[in-house]
Amino acid sequence: MANQATNPAVNIQNLKCHYGDKLALDDINLTVAEREILVIMGHSGSGKSTLFKNVLGLVTPTAGVVEVLGKDISKLKKTELYELRKSIGVAFQNGALFSSLSVRENIELPLREHTRLDDSTIQIMTMMKLAQMNLVGHEDLMPAQLSGGMLKRAGLARAVIMDPKLLFFDEPSAGLDPVTSAELDQLILQLRDALNMSIIIITHELESAFNVADRITILDRGKQILTGTRDEIRASDDKRIVNMLGRKVRDDAIDAEAYLDSLTKGRSK
Ligand code: ADP
Repeated sequence: MANQATNPAVNIQNLKCHYGDKLALDDINLTVAEREILVIMGHSGSGKSTLFKNVLGLVTPTAGVVEVLGKDISKLKKTELYELRKSIGVAFQNGALFSSLSVRENIELPLREHTRLDDSTIQIMTMMKLAQMNLVGHEDLMPAQLSGGMLKRAGLARAVIMDPKLLFFDEPSAGLDPVTSAELDQLILQLRDALNMSIIIITHELESAFNVADRITILDRGKQILTGTRDEIRASDDKRIVNMLGRKVRDDAIDAEAYLDSLTKGRSK
């Protein structure tokens, strides 16, 4: 569960972000508590990636404040920003593994790049993450030999190898079948509990969002339509949210016989 009493992992106030004249984010106000899982949803072009880039300090906002792990991003020197990014894990939708490195080599890469730990410590830490991600026995495979679910788990293992305080996960469900996707959702929940991280997930998948989220933020054309718990999102009467949820419900709940019945009503007499 999220811990609202302590300092938030992310605190965004009145954030605006432009690309040239284009307003990509308009007055975003968002916090992510310690151990909270926040899911960001929205159509393509709604500003999800721009929000993510602001949190990592990859773009400069036009207005507002972005605080990450207690630090105001705009006030950090380059070296301080670089240090802060070491406490943030990022898992990309296709795993983004180096194809010429084995699973093990990919996972231990951040430890080799950013720490001076000796080989045996790196091996132990890597084995722990392999075990957490159900990848033991697959560590010597190359990325091309992995299934979609394994690729995501390996990417996730690399993203958390430094025990980050904050994890971003871009589209965990993309390209996965429903069972594998649900397994990954469970893994994300376990990971939050094991590592005490705050997690921000970008997803299009309603089911996955409702499986893992403490709160959900919905963006539309750069604006934050609503941020709330799953129940608050379900109870919203905003037309855009009703449409988003309704479409899914209709897709799932279609009853072929009732539908045929409705089409043929009155014709058979
Ligand atoms: P999402 O991740 O939800 O698909 P983005 O954050 O990528 O949305 O984009 C938000 C808006 O900003 C879109 O209208 C997009 O076209 C625009 N945009 C994104 N990146 C750039 C860029 N580098 N230059 C100009 N416009 C951009």
